[in-house]
Amino acid sequence: MRPDRGPPLAELWRPAAGGAIVCELCPHGCRLAEGASGLCKVRRNEGGAMALPYFGLVSSLSTDPIEKKPLHHFLPGSAAFSVGFAGCNLRCPFCQNWSISQELPPRLEAFSPESLVKAALRSGAPSIAYTYSEPCVHFEFVRNAMTAARRAGLKNVLVTNGCLSPTPARELLALTDAANVDLKSWSADAYEKVLGGDRDAVLEFIRIASSICHLELTTLVVPGISDDEAGILSIASFIAGLSPDIPLHLSAYRPEWKFRSPPTDPALLASLAAAAGAQLRYVFVGNVPGRSSDTLCPDCGSIVVSRRGYRIDTSGLRKTDSAAYCANCGMALHIKV
Ligand code: SF4
Ligand code: SF4
Repeated sequence: MRPDRGPPLAELWRPAAGGAIVCELCPHGCRLAEGASGLCKVRRNEGGAMALPYFGLVSSLSTDPIEKKPLHHFLPGSAAFSVGFAGCNLRCPFCQNWSISQELPPRLEAFSPESLVKAALRSGAPSIAYTYSEPCVHFEFVRNAMTAARRAGLKNVLVTNGCLSPTPARELLALTDAANVDLKSWSADAYEKVLGGDRDAVLEFIRIASSICHLELTTLVVPGISDDEAGILSIASFIAGLSPDIPLHLSAYRPEWKFRSPPTDPALLASLAAAAGAQLRYVFVGNVPGRSSDTLCPDCGSIVVSRRGYRIDTSGLRKTDSAAYCANCGMALHIKV
């Protein structure tokens, strides 16, 4: 479904000369002439005002294990009602979801924030995850859905590239219970020249998120972009400066879309994880078949959360209403249960 125009409620833009407008949602600051769309494809100048032609149009719906987001320390073993839209403000040449992030899918299903929340409640999942493509370019819809979800007693999970201006970032993160943010490379140059993004804006987003909600980070280890040990150590050091309890997921890349380099070598991934683990308490390796990614107690080394694929066993945790402890040694753990 492709309606001609969305509801007139776009925020974060200003008028410019000659009928143009400037979008203030993300660091690109697109200047849009009459009839033009932004880099993300989903915000458009219609008659000298910002229109949202893709407001509430959903490309993908699925009930996933929350570990797939990936989130390992937020409601472990639970399901997340997961929703994807269309468009993205980055151009990662290895995007695994390029058919919805870089193209506008021909078949989209229309939801209101309230009808999305009703669908989530029917699924029985305790959370809604805004994921798959880039949810933040749909700021107004996601903000309204998050507000409705909170009212209905659901948790909000944001899976994002974090390339957003600070004001909308604060507004969305205030409604977010858990976020997984991609930190795709330590190289500002790679962000700018290869991914079409702004590393410093992402670092600021992560700083804000770390003070507001549960946070985990993901780095896809891509040859030539994010597979150097110095870069991974800089990422680990940045995270440790916020909190060594923030989990880092180092995920194996596989060739997709325009990027044809061979997949990440599992041995390299393991060695990068070990290096990052000198500064962080929880470093997980992802996308490697057969590889275990248990959470170990940082104090006594017992398995507190065991993962075999998506079979999750939390019997190593002692849980109270608001906290989790190692069942073996009693250490308080930064795991939301
Ligand atoms: S959100 Fe979209 S239109 Fe706005 S500045 Fe970013 S890429 Fe441009
Ligand atoms: S930020 Fe994510 S969705 Fe957007 S292009 Fe990069 S990998 Fe794809």
